[in-house]
Amino acid sequence: MREILHIQGGQCGNQIGSKFWEVICDEHGIDPTGRYNSDNAGASDLQLERINVYFNEATAGRFVPRAVLMDLEPGTMDSIRSGPYGQIFRPDNFVFGQSGAGNNWAKGHYTEGAELIDSVLDVVRKEAEYCDCMQGFQVCHSLGGGTGSGMGTLLISKIREEYPDRMMLTFSVFPSPKVSDTVVEPYNATLSVHQLVENADECMVLDNEALYDICFRTLKLTNPTFGDLNHLISATMSGVTCCLRFPGQLNSDLRKLAVNLIPFPRLHFFMVGFAPLTSRGSQQYSSLTVPELTQQMWDAKNMMCAADPRHGRYLTASAMFRGKMSTKEVDEQMINVQNKNSSYFVEWIPNNVKSSVCDIPPTGLKMASTFIGNSTSIQEMFRRVSEQFTAMYRRKAFLHWYTGEGMDEMEFTEAESNMNDLVAEYQQYQDATAEVEEDFDEGVEEHYEGQ
Ligand code: GDP
Repeated sequence: MREILHIQGGQCGNQIGSKFWEVICDEHGIDPTGRYNSDNAGASDLQLERINVYFNEATAGRFVPRAVLMDLEPGTMDSIRSGPYGQIFRPDNFVFGQSGAGNNWAKGHYTEGAELIDSVLDVVRKEAEYCDCMQGFQVCHSLGGGTGSGMGTLLISKIREEYPDRMMLTFSVFPSPKVSDTVVEPYNATLSVHQLVENADECMVLDNEALYDICFRTLKLTNPTFGDLNHLISATMSGVTCCLRFPGQLNSDLRKLAVNLIPFPRLHFFMVGFAPLTSRGSQQYSSLTVPELTQQMWDAKNMMCAADPRHGRYLTASAMFRGKMSTKEVDEQMINVQNKNSSYFVEWIPNNVKSSVCDIPPTGLKMASTFIGNSTSIQEMFRRVSEQFTAMYRRKAFLHWYTGEGMDEMEFTEAESNMNDLVAEYQQYQDATAEVEEDFDEGVEEHYEGQ
């Protein structure tokens, strides 16, 4: 057994986390009371074979999510508790305060959050002890607020200290002014990225800017709500974790996923994509073919991150197809994409694109595919946040909210340069190939000129 311990924090983290559990309960045939109850008899072995990755088995055959829920205010967790799957979670695993973090990273990381962190760690420890051989953790949070972002990254650093050899995966929601609550979000996000670069092993980037654009442009929703954005997120999270939850070869645990996707340790921020895109409550009328799925999953419009892969190069990528389909056709289509777009893949990592097929499709679809790419173009998103950060920081705007919680300005300066370094590193590997090729071309030209 290789268990994963799930943690969700703050409003956004709790909202996307509880959607994730609804979706995976459904896929594994677990009803809201935790009982296995499948109407898909043919799939039952597959549904249960790796159920222990995310669920504990309690008495009387009840499956309980290995999930810890934390927040600095009770509201969001109250609505989860009274929601459709509220009873499935272990009541002791709800840890919350009353103070709130007021969208202030410093409150989450240094003051209010620091007060609550030990109670969270107690629950985490209890769950970890209960595991046979835990592979690692996954954390759901937003980076723009105070709790998920400040306290979330505090928890991540404490976990890293206590479990240094376990993997840490995050589902991190990046802020966008298009769906913004407050102006200080770029501060909170930059301070968080500074932490995630050092203390997380792999980060699935969920960028509200891209999620909003997908809802607005592709799904034609004129006024996208968090519910609409979270529908895209839960579909993506289900797709990303599919190879961890069902039997298969590719990326079957957190470490293998990291080994395939991360050529340099700091560059562990992934663009994720999903196909077919559907809106909440809508039915898909025509089912897609493998070539259509492949085409869509590589499309910039399907990426959950506002960065265009054609402005950079892929270091690595993985594709997970779901449903009944021919593996041979999948392989052919994937090779086809790479051959036609070879300049968008660094040539100094041969075979950097992997794909796999999982028999069980997501609920409501016949076939789907999820894409995880390590693309140098993700720097576009970091640049966006960095520009917003710098505009305010140059004038020290809003800093007193942070220094008032005891933070030193130095930490802002360090966070800013760490993120700028990250951008430069992506750029360096993006150019690495171009330069080599240019040298090569020049060499060839000289060679012919000399003749
Ligand atoms: P916290 O409770 O202090 O962690 O603060 P929030 O989670 O509310 O953080 C605010 C940031 O998260 C802003 O960038 C919001 O746009 C975003 N956000 C809040 N709730 C949701 C949600 O349910 N879905 C998505 N996609 N983003 C959210």
